[in-house]
Amino acid sequence: MKALTALGIQPSVYHLNEGHAAFSTLEVARQEIERTGKSFYDIEADVRNRCVFTTHTPVPAGHDVFSPDLMDSFFAHYWTKLRLSREQFLALGARRLGDPWEPFGMTVLALRMCRAANGVSELHGHVSRKMWTILYPQRSEDKVPIGYITNGVHAPTWTAPLMAELYAQYLGEDWKTRVIDPKTWEKVNDIPDEELWWRHLVLKERLIAYTRYKVKKAREQRGEEYHKIQAAETLLDPKVLTIGFARRFSPYKRGHLLLRDAERAIRIFGNAERPVQIIFAGKAHPADEEGKRIIQRLMEWCQHSAIQHRVAFIEDYDIYVGQKLVQGVDVWLNNPRRPLEASGTSGQKVCFNGGINCSVLDGWWCEGYKTDANGQGINGWAIGEDAHTSDQDLQDSIDAESLYKLLEEQIVPLYYDQDANGTPHRWVQMMKASIKTNAPLFNTDRMIADYVSQVYVPEIATRVEPILAKVLV
Ligand SMILES: *Cc1c(COP(=O)(O)O)cnc(C)c1O
Repeated sequence: MKALTALGIQPSVYHLNEGHAAFSTLEVARQEIERTGKSFYDIEADVRNRCVFTTHTPVPAGHDVFSPDLMDSFFAHYWTKLRLSREQFLALGARRLGDPWEPFGMTVLALRMCRAANGVSELHGHVSRKMWTILYPQRSEDKVPIGYITNGVHAPTWTAPLMAELYAQYLGEDWKTRVIDPKTWEKVNDIPDEELWWRHLVLKERLIAYTRYKVKKAREQRGEEYHKIQAAETLLDPKVLTIGFARRFSPYKRGHLLLRDAERAIRIFGNAERPVQIIFAGKAHPADEEGKRIIQRLMEWCQHSAIQHRVAFIEDYDIYVGQKLVQGVDVWLNNPRRPLEASGTSGQKVCFNGGINCSVLDGWWCEGYKTDANGQGINGWAIGEDAHTSDQDLQDSIDAESLYKLLEEQIVPLYYDQDANGTPHRWVQMMKASIKTNAPLFNTDRMIADYVSQVYVPEIATRVEPILAKVLV
């Protein structure tokens, strides 16, 4: 807020991305009070009119809260500037009023001080309304004023140049300005299967060359034996069905779900005729011990002699690694514990490159996954089913079983059903469906248009009623 003021920028809307940013609404209020000499409650509605909020976190524990003591030590000088008492100030972040030990919640503050609020996928909107009904005691859950706008990715950034060139040729030179139009993507049908397939293979070869380079460097740095360092040069095979899995190794992402039955996984990956390979990338939060243990288990599994040339782990997942991965894999795997993935975007990046998603129906994939009349996925695969149980172990075993079955019965046979020239026509059909159905929806053009029409422009946007009873002391 202070930087914007110093630069002479007066935003017409302040968009808070997650609760961390919510103190800025108080600074909007402070400046307004200083300018007008009015009280906090007189300018509160005006501040709300200028602020909107996007929440990203589907677990209660993920929302920042601070103890009243901590608030005292940082804000004692501040509430006087807002012309509020300590109690009035602390009430702005209180879930329940009147409890002196109630922590100060950043999401509560944001919901209180913003005229509009949204989650980042349809399912996450649902979860958020349920989580915050406590703030709207007079409303039923479905009337809690938190909507949703599903995330999207920036097509020109995530589409490989080799694919972008193909789109320019078949969808029109100006395809990048028409990503939001489903008709643009219908023309994907005109691309010959062989053409799409060889470009994909080139991208896969590049990814594998890059993976070998990264793995070799990491082994050198760890001072591993010479023959192990050399083995990195023949790691993975471009002809083999290749799965990508890259993300933070938070436990809810279940990076080791595939290892639940380690022997069965080895049979799938080490199959002599129809092998499967997987590239993992990621890191755990330094304080996340369980996340680090998951990575350790994966690293151990990678050493197994039957599959050591079929599994790779790239350290230090960043945007560059991400780009290589989403552009080169056949299948993108995502198996979080539902409904803990608010949206997820990496699987969207894959679609622009003809990759196919195999994911739990969580976050954006809940909206992206499409089936035919027989309930078969036409643009990817859905892992597991919601057992409506709080028994995580049971849910994990249901999802793992489903993942193995999908690989064994659907994904592997489809990939290896190739003609004499090595083109898997049915697979390419699914690649095309992945592009056609997802590209027009899960892009930033559509997302920004939604934010403009549903949130930023207040004349169109639905107003959110202020929450809680007005305070108080
Ligand atoms: C896209 C991306 C993410 C977010 O993807 P998720 O689907 O939420 O995991 C995270 N890190 C990097 C480097 C990315 O490119």
